[in-house]
Amino acid sequence: MPAVHFVGARERYTSSNMIERFKGALEKGELHELFSQGDLVAVKFDAGEKTALGYVRPPIVKAIVDAIYSCDGYPVLLDTLNMNTKASDVGRNWLEATALHGFSVTSLGKSPMLADGYTGEEELLVPVEGGELGGVEVARAIAESHALVVVSHVAAHPFAGLSGALVSCGVGCVSLKGKGRVHAPLRPIFLQDRCDGCGECEKHCPHGAVSLENNEPQLDEKSCIGCAYYCTAACPVGAIVIDRSSTMRFQKRVVDSAMAVNTALKGKVYYVNVLIDICPYPDCYPFSDVPFVSDQGILMSSDPVALDSATLSVIDEAPGLPGSIAEECDALSPGRGKLFHITGVDPKEMILYAVKQGLGQGDFRVFKV
Ligand code: SF4
Ligand code: SF4
Repeated sequence: MPAVHFVGARERYTSSNMIERFKGALEKGELHELFSQGDLVAVKFDAGEKTALGYVRPPIVKAIVDAIYSCDGYPVLLDTLNMNTKASDVGRNWLEATALHGFSVTSLGKSPMLADGYTGEEELLVPVEGGELGGVEVARAIAESHALVVVSHVAAHPFAGLSGALVSCGVGCVSLKGKGRVHAPLRPIFLQDRCDGCGECEKHCPHGAVSLENNEPQLDEKSCIGCAYYCTAACPVGAIVIDRSSTMRFQKRVVDSAMAVNTALKGKVYYVNVLIDICPYPDCYPFSDVPFVSDQGILMSSDPVALDSATLSVIDEAPGLPGSIAEECDALSPGRGKLFHITGVDPKEMILYAVKQGLGQGDFRVFKV
């Protein structure tokens, strides 16, 4: 049964500092088996969006960089571009977000870089068997590293249910084109009986894919890239939805894409899920909303499926926070499927598909650090 190591968030004494316990666990644990002396070890983090507060804080990323050095590897700090921004702005937005959120050579001892380049086009096509993708455009600097540590800020995800190891690997480690192909099944559906013709969706779609005709929104299928974000988040009356068959295809593509990333790295991938600031929206959104459960700590494993299963279980067992979306969705009680009730998408379906594809195991054994 795969091991999942759990560093709890509570700190009562100097000796129980969470970052120190986390770094110590990395140095003593499975990191040693991941790479050989002098290997290039990509650390995939997410700088987040410049207007959002949901992202993994720099001291946690720094602990990973330091632990890789301690294990004689050579860490390379990498992120990829976010498809939610206008194509002309993506590189500049990333630079501003990294600076605003404190990811710098001063804070981390390494300069963060873009694995898919400033325009998001540097990629390596990696074949993947089964599924709908055929091949996946893995961000080149990640594909060409000897090993990879995927760092995820755990959050709810409106189309996958859970934003954790699978999403950070399958979406976060691919180029802009790769992200576009994973998201391609997501198409907004306009509910005309709810729509009041305000035009917010037309105004906010960065790709000009929505136009109002006789006060009714029309989608230009060719222009829509399936970001499924700007239009849905802009509608003030909930008149734009993504149907279940689309989110199921998205979940499967996330898993197939994660398989390709693992193939590119020859399975030398380690996963860190950070359960601090557990918000309703993932790091690619320009807002996060307030956390819906309290900080839980850090979970890590060499099995992304076991890790996401364990993450789901920790979140579901925690009491929801009053005043958060968990209260609105009647998901405050421990044991209630919070992510499903918050997003309407069952993350267990993505986990089951990942097990079926052989990416990992759904069961796990937790070791507390
Ligand atoms: S219509 Fe919606 S999903 Fe399509 S590109 Fe525009 S904002 Fe994204
Ligand atoms: S934002 Fe919503 S209510 Fe406004 S036009 Fe678009 S679908 Fe209709």
